[in-house]
Amino acid sequence: MIPAQPVEADAAAAVGTSAIIDARDVHKRFGSLEVLKGITLQVERGQVACLLGPSGSGKSTFLRCINHLEKIDAGLIRVAGETVGYEERGGKLYELPVRAVARQRRGVGMVFQRFNLFPHMTALENVIEAPIQVRGVARAAAKERALQLLERVGLADKAGAYPSALSGGQQQRIAIARALAMDPEVMLFDEPTSALDPELVGDVLDVMRDLAASGMTMIVVTHEIGFAREVGDIAVFMDGGVVVEQGRPSDVLVSPREARTQAFLAKVL
Ligand code: ADP
Ligand code: MG
Repeated sequence: MIPAQPVEADAAAAVGTSAIIDARDVHKRFGSLEVLKGITLQVERGQVACLLGPSGSGKSTFLRCINHLEKIDAGLIRVAGETVGYEERGGKLYELPVRAVARQRRGVGMVFQRFNLFPHMTALENVIEAPIQVRGVARAAAKERALQLLERVGLADKAGAYPSALSGGQQQRIAIARALAMDPEVMLFDEPTSALDPELVGDVLDVMRDLAASGMTMIVVTHEIGFAREVGDIAVFMDGGVVVEQGRPSDVLVSPREARTQAFLAKVL
């Protein structure tokens, strides 16, 4: 495949960083609507960044850019040292072919608000599907690992159940196990508990808390302020496509400096 015209690598790209997720001045527009107006965020390996902000502020779009489900218009995103969607050669960026993008994407697990399980497959089949189909893992090995993951999310006894027989919270925990089955380097969660009945939220947050404690690098879009304060290393408040304020959750979520953050927290708390 012939690479697209090279573009000059962002000057910032030359600056070394230890961050496993390194987003710099990310811009994204849909037609005339500029949705991300220069987002910069660095997340170190093992850290949990919690992203908050009103509906429409660009949180989901930003996550989708990290996973290259959306292509950014300007700026740079690196995950584990690789430029998302591009290959860097001689100070220039070349667009990666589709297959290489797919390989990059596999390093980033994503869990959405809606559980997105395959309805015609059991919990176990949902978890083993990608390792077998995409990574060529042998069925027996995939199954063994899937059972460990189901155990980890507290659902070993539901391996044979179909999604329709599971609660929303159980489905979401299966979705987490399914993402983990690809051994991602980082996990992105987009409002993973927003669609759940209140009594089911806790079990899902517990699984995410365990995952964070195990050292997984995570970006979590959530309005669960308690979770963000307890588990988050970084809190990021976005509004209108910009980062209004970011810092330690004990600062940003307890005594925010910016009026927009204060107003938002007053609404969700
Ligand atoms: P959030 O997750 O913070 O609620 P989103 O990232 O979903 O915000 O959306 C930010 C803005 O981008 C919204 O105005 C939304 O309507 C718009 N948007 C998102 N995806 C698309 C798309 N595929 N095409 C056009 N506009 C979009
Ligand atoms: Mg969203």
